Amino acid sequence: MKFIEEESRLLPVYATPEVLVVGAGPAGIGAAISAARNGAKVMLLERYGFLGGNLTIAMVNPMFTFHDIKGRQVIRGIAGELVDRLIQLKSSHGHVSDLTFDNASMTPFDPEGMKYLLFEMVREAGVELLLHTWAVGVVKEGTKVTSVIIENKSGRQVINPQYVIDCSADADIATMAKAPFVKGRKEDGAMQPVTLFFRIGGIEMNKLRLWMKANRELLKDSPTDEEIDSSEAIAFLGLKELVKKGMENGEFPKEAAPRILFYQLPLEGQIAVNATRLQGIDGTDARDLTRAEIETRMQAWEIHKFLQKYVGGFENSFILDTGVQVGVRETRHITGDYELTEEDVLSNRAFEDGIACGTFAIDIHPPEGEQQVFTGSGKAVYEIPYRSLIPQGLDNVLVAGRAISATHNAFGSARVMATCMGIGQGAGVATALLLKDKLPTRQVDVALLRKKLEEQGQYLLGMTDDTMAVNSKLILHKVDGSGATASHYNPFKDISHG
Ligand SMILES: Cc1cc2nc3c(=O)[nH]c(=O)nc-3n(C[C@H](O)[C@H](O)[C@H](O)COP(=O)(O)OP(=O)(O)OC[C@H]3O[C@@H](n4cnc5c(N)ncnc54)[C@H](O)[C@@H]3O)c2cc1C
Repeated sequence: MKFIEEESRLLPVYATPEVLVVGAGPAGIGAAISAARNGAKVMLLERYGFLGGNLTIAMVNPMFTFHDIKGRQVIRGIAGELVDRLIQLKSSHGHVSDLTFDNASMTPFDPEGMKYLLFEMVREAGVELLLHTWAVGVVKEGTKVTSVIIENKSGRQVINPQYVIDCSADADIATMAKAPFVKGRKEDGAMQPVTLFFRIGGIEMNKLRLWMKANRELLKDSPTDEEIDSSEAIAFLGLKELVKKGMENGEFPKEAAPRILFYQLPLEGQIAVNATRLQGIDGTDARDLTRAEIETRMQAWEIHKFLQKYVGGFENSFILDTGVQVGVRETRHITGDYELTEEDVLSNRAFEDGIACGTFAIDIHPPEGEQQVFTGSGKAVYEIPYRSLIPQGLDNVLVAGRAISATHNAFGSARVMATCMGIGQGAGVATALLLKDKLPTRQVDVALLRKKLEEQGQYLLGMTDDTMAVNSKLILHKVDGSGATASHYNPFKDISHG
């Protein structure tokens, strides 16, 4: 590779917030709102023109998952508030049964309502926003990041914060500050595939429900009439054999996921489709991303045609839109002070410095082979320790969201959006506490941090009252899925579901 030398230049200081949050996905939203509500002067930086990360940019839907298998809401806090307000806006039905992956609940939402509400919530909290801006570099003094270099239409400038919460999903800040990380799977660096979500509009939902009842054997676990009718939002997973044939005869893209998966959205006749797929893409490599954007968009059109041909209700449907960018499931995991493991997830592990809970199954779209693998569907309620947010070698940076220190398998559970927002909330409160005495991140009073989080609505193991109400709307018996289209390994299957 050839190199040229760039001339050095002086950069203007754009802002000096106490806490800079980089990236406005679920983690960044949780972090910015909670740091600001706890008294910090917060700036939230985002490369796109609206907030939400995968919630809106990649159009990932639904949010997983707020309830444990008993139907108790164990993800609350800012994520819980967000859902309550989406319901008021009529942008979500709230938590409904998940017939696809044996989780107790799923939470579909309208992405436009989400965009509106996130601006409202961030503004109410007093967070200063800077959109259309990339974080592209850092300046360090010892173990501290003293400046984050930014680029936007105004040019190249710096922001000088006291603490940075890196919610870029790729641990961009930690990486630029030379903190160690692991990309993908430890043994070979392989990462989960990317998927471009797209929305289809103009579907006749009643026809679709009738088609599902008439063709239930083509769907995972052959849902009953009652299951198909009981949920306000259809969750559709199946057509494995039809898709296989389609791949052979050219009617279905060969590299896409080997099944159809989609979710009904709150607005009439709309669904979000999770069916395109491309392996071998490194989400931190622009050349790979370019290929992924083109190929998955081509796939989306073919998949829509396939649905129109084979599934009832799609006759007059149309592609409403595709995600602003392809959804990247996995890239870097920082090497933190503690690495969350699969065993932690499956053994319901609580930590002295636990700052948020997760309860989603370990969901891995393997980097090779076709079967999506689910382990421990909805059984576990575990905590994410604060130490998993602390990158080695840095004293004023926390990493929140999908890039926390976790193994490829543990990440398969902690990566979902409700959990990421909870992790962000934990990071936000932590920085607000640290600010008082300008302490290094490792010196936060974890007992006080947990107390504050609990007071502010976060559910934490061993602290929050466990006798909470069960959501009676949810169908709670589907915990040992047969795996018609996903393969399930449930280590808890012999244990009573209580
Ligand atoms: C295809 C796919 C399907 C999924 N399915 C589900 C699902 O059904 N339910 C569920 O709950 N979860 C699902 N997930 C997982 C979930 O969407 C992510 O793991 C989660 O969004 C991660 O949250 P985050 O805040 O860490 O990152 P993101 O949501 O990725 O947000 C990161 C933000 O940082 C910004 N950013 C990045 N780098 C920079 C930079 N250098 N400068 C400025 N801004 C920057 C981005 O623009 C973005 O807004 C899925 C993910 C994918 C990709």
